[in-house]
Formats: sequence, C-alpha cells, structure tokens
Amino acid sequence: MKFLVTGGAGFIGSAVIRHLINDKKYSVFNVDCLTYAGNLASLHSVSKSDLYHFQKLDICNSDGLRVVFDRYQPDVVLHLAAESHVDRSIDAPAVFLQTNIMGTYALLQAALEYWRTAPLDVKQRFRFHHVSTDEVFGDLALGDAPFTEMATFAPSSPYAASKAASDHLVHAWHRTYGLPVVISNCSNNYGPYHFPEKLIPHTILNALSGRELPVYGDGQQIRDWLFVEDHARALCLVAEKGALGETYNLGGGSERRNIDVVKSICAILDDLAPSLRQPQLASYSDLIAFVKDRPGHDRRYAINAYKIRDQLGWSPKETFESGLRKTVAWYLENEGWWRPILNGEYMLQRIGDAR
Ligand code: NAD
Repeated sequence: MKFLVTGGAGFIGSAVIRHLINDKKYSVFNVDCLTYAGNLASLHSVSKSDLYHFQKLDICNSDGLRVVFDRYQPDVVLHLAAESHVDRSIDAPAVFLQTNIMGTYALLQAALEYWRTAPLDVKQRFRFHHVSTDEVFGDLALGDAPFTEMATFAPSSPYAASKAASDHLVHAWHRTYGLPVVISNCSNNYGPYHFPEKLIPHTILNALSGRELPVYGDGQQIRDWLFVEDHARALCLVAEKGALGETYNLGGGSERRNIDVVKSICAILDDLAPSLRQPQLASYSDLIAFVKDRPGHDRRYAINAYKIRDQLGWSPKETFESGLRKTVAWYLENEGWWRPILNGEYMLQRIGDAR
C-alpha cells in the first residue's frame, strides 16, 4: 500500500507515519510545508527507511500536488495538514482559512484528477481520508450525550469553523464527483512529540522549568482524551476498511476536566522527577495559576466512538492514566527533541538545512 500523508511532520501525522512504516511496512510519501508546528526530528526513527519519502510542499500549491500524485501514484491519501492551534486561530484566522479550507480544496482537486485517470486497479483501491476534529460539533452541556456521527456542526472557534468547512468540502466531493472518501472526527490527542504550545506538553515543560502552570478560567472545561498512537492505528484502519462516504468518530472515552489533567501531570512528575522540582515547592501543583479564559471557550467535548468499535473493531489500548504516564516519562527522557523547540534552534537548523 502507498500512502500519501499530508502534515506528516506534525504531532499526529508523525505518529501515523511511524505506525505505517514500523508496524504496517507500508510506503509513505510525506507532503508537509514545515510550518512552525512541523518538525522532521519527529520522524528520525523512519526517515532512513526505503519506505519513507518526503517533499516540502504547501498543500495550497496545486501544480506541486499534481506532480506528487503523478509520480507517487498513491493508493490512499491521509490528509492531516492543517493549522491546528485554537489560540492562534483567534489571534490570526486568515492562515487557518487558507490552509484548512483552500488547502483541502486544492488537495481534493488534485486527488480527483488523479483518481479519474488512474488505472482501474488503482482507481478501485483509492481512498481519500480526511482527518478532522470533534471541535466541529461545538460544545456540550454537562448532562448531554456524547457526540455521535449524526451530531450537528456548530463550531465555535475560527479553527473549528475552518475544519467544519473542510469536512463539508470532502462530503461534497464525494456526493458530487464520486471521489471515494472517508472522514474521521477525533477528540483531543496527547502523547510523545506533541508541540509544546498545547496543554499537556506545555504543563510538563513549564513544571520542569519551575514556571507557572496556566489554567484557563476555572479549569472546569472537559475534554475527551485519546493517546496519539491509538489515534494513528484508528486512522490507518478507517483509511483501509472504512465504508466510503462515511464518517467515524474517534475518542478515548476519557473525559477529564482541564484542572484535573494538570493536577494529574503534577502528581506523575512528583513521582517520577522529585529531584527536578524546585526546593521551595512541596508539589509541582503549587505552580498552578488560573488565567483569563479564552474567548468562546467550549465547556465540554465528548465522543461516542461506538461506530468504529462495532464496525471496525477498534478500541484504544491506553487508558488516560497509562497514556499520560508514558507521555510524561517520554518528555523526561527526550529533552533532545523539545529543547531545540523551546529555544527556537529547530527553526535555525531548518534554515541551515536549506542552505
Ligand atoms: P500539527 O499542528 O501538530 O501539525 C500540522 C502539520 O501540518 C505540521 O507538520 C505543518 O507543518 C503541516 N502544515 C500546516 N500547513 C500546511 C500546508 N499549508 N501545507 C503543508 N503542510 C502544512 O497538527 P496535529 O495536532 O498533528 O493535527 C493533525 C490533524 O489532526 C489536523 O488536521 C487537526 O485538525 C486534526 N486533529 C487534531 C487533534 C489534536 O488533538 N491535535 C484532534 C483531532 C483532529
């Protein structure tokens, strides 16, 4: 199987590529333009493999995409490239609309042209898997049932709205042009190689450097957490076995309040790294500080993942407790990955590579 993966240098994309190459032995072509969130260091374990190919390319570049499709002749497109950070979408939405909407449009068009003229066997196998988020559904009240695949779209942030728009485009390209697509909408991911601006790595790394652990508002916002490697397995399964035109909701069945996530990280660090804690602190949790809430902040997301469980036999291997412990341990052991991000060296290395 030949997978064309977009956004493969990002957090989830790199987990998917490691899974496709190390576990499935599939060929992968990674298309990524390397924004601040893309980091080829996350792919070190596979980058020397004959199965791995990379091209630095913006998914808005239609001509470039056409060349990649023609040369690589993929069986599957796994589309993850996106701007993904909600706070950044509030401060500067334009690039979110450009990449998440127009980039998805350019990729759909390139895929459609390729699929229409592909040899019959490729045409029959071909699938376009669009990777999306539960944030397209907006938020839930405390007693509401978790989102099913039938939930109405009600996005709150510019990020979520741009992802919702891209989901609509993918559905339309299926209904109108017959492009063989599948879509998945997943809850919050966490795990190794997560960019330090997101809640869990931000908390771990701030705690290790003795800085404040900021928690938005009252910290009562609830997210349904999924370990990234469980998500990677699910994406591969949906891409290969999902019914065409269908959507699959993916989640960990692990609803946690943000404040409890931060406290759990502190408890694990107290256990694994007491010697790195500043002497004046009794616990890393002494660093917790409540800060002004994000505008339009959704209170609760929760996913009903029964469809993929019942139809495709997927379930997460990690509980939130086991996955979080693995994640904290990974950050303790992999300063070589995160330090260059914190001090900006990873961007300088990139300029050096390009010279
Ligand atoms: P990420 O921000 O870590 O990575 C995004 C990747 O896309 C980066 O490597 C970046 O360089 C690349 N990229 C951005 N714009 C591009 C462009 N114009 N052309 C080519 N490459 C580009 O994101 P992530 O957390 O890995 O999320 C991946 C996908 O999964 C996104 O589509 C996101 O909406 C979705 N998703 C994420 C989560 C989550 O919790 N992180 C949950 C559900 C769904």
